[in-house]
Amino acid sequence: MTVPVYLDYNATTPIAPEVVAAMRPFFEEHFGNPSSSHSYGRRAREAVAAARGQVAGLVGAEPEEICFTGGATEANNLAIQGAARARPDRRHLVTSAIEHPSVLAPIRALEAQGWEVTIVPVDPYGQVSVAAVARAVRKDTVLVSIMHANNETGTLQPVRDIAAVAHACGALMHTDAAQSAGKVPLDVRALSVDFLTLAGHKFYAPKGVGALYRAAAAPPLVPILFGGGQEAGMRPGTENVPAIVALGQAAQLAARGLGTFPARWVFLRDHLHRLLDDQIPGLCLNGHPTERLPNTLNLSFPNVDAAALLAAVASDVAASVGSACHEGASGASATLNAMGLAPKRIAGAIRFSVGLRLDKSQIDDAARALILAWPRLARS
Ligand code: PLP
Repeated sequence: MTVPVYLDYNATTPIAPEVVAAMRPFFEEHFGNPSSSHSYGRRAREAVAAARGQVAGLVGAEPEEICFTGGATEANNLAIQGAARARPDRRHLVTSAIEHPSVLAPIRALEAQGWEVTIVPVDPYGQVSVAAVARAVRKDTVLVSIMHANNETGTLQPVRDIAAVAHACGALMHTDAAQSAGKVPLDVRALSVDFLTLAGHKFYAPKGVGALYRAAAAPPLVPILFGGGQEAGMRPGTENVPAIVALGQAAQLAARGLGTFPARWVFLRDHLHRLLDDQIPGLCLNGHPTERLPNTLNLSFPNVDAAALLAAVASDVAASVGSACHEGASGASATLNAMGLAPKRIAGAIRFSVGLRLDKSQIDDAARALILAWPRLARS
């Protein structure tokens, strides 16, 4: 039986075999609680410390600046709620119209509790303008949160320049880098951010584990959970040791792979784009043509409903309409909507995202299926 070609690596990735191998002993023989003082505890504690170093290495941080979380949603919530509550004299937050719900929803929750919020728009490529952020920040801005790369279009944001604007008015800077890790180099010092979010399952580690980088110089975050003193009190609860070990191993693999994998992804992504563009008149690229993740291709197919096209090729291609879990008019993609694209263009948009385990012949198969299905569905 053939399986559909998986072109949805921005939704999640398979776990790398090396990652499975690294985590397995921590389910079985090394099952200790890192807080225990005996040798079982020590073994687990050492493994968590090693993983902290590996994750720090991926983003150019110090190990003490990494806080393990139960994924990117939690890391975003911790950064946003924790920073807002850490400096109660400042009551204003700035974010963009294309953030993931795990950023927008905690910001909206703070707004409901009395904070003021400014949502900056994006241009037709899905990029936030530094000038728009400069107009939005105020003397009482506590935090600016702008994602590093958009999950739907892959468009990269000028985070470093936005951080400079935030810092100039005394605000803190957070970036959700859940989609960038392992795809583009990440350096917290070069980006000059105070907080940065990572998600394990976007770079070949399991779901339900992630990390928040907090700069040593940033104010301590007010935790969103209260309990034991794990993770310097920022994220109490017995550590998920196998998942943390996996995150560390995946971070190390990602750091090493940055020299080779992205070029291969660009090749596969652009090959898919070319094959489709040759046969589908009126196909449009959504997102920035160059300032974009190397693995992401968001295309609008003319005169079709993207969900219907994906349903028609379901046995050959697994991709995404990119609107899942995003707020927006009538279920349409909030990101594409914020970019000002016409409703018909949004309706025909499919996000393809490539990754490890793909080869050119699979891209050929996926393109063939789409090229055959599109004319059958296209309304003239
Ligand atoms: N941020 C971005 C940009 C994402 O793409 C995702 C996942 O889709 C998340 C945050 C949330 O990640 P998780 O569901 O693993 O918490």
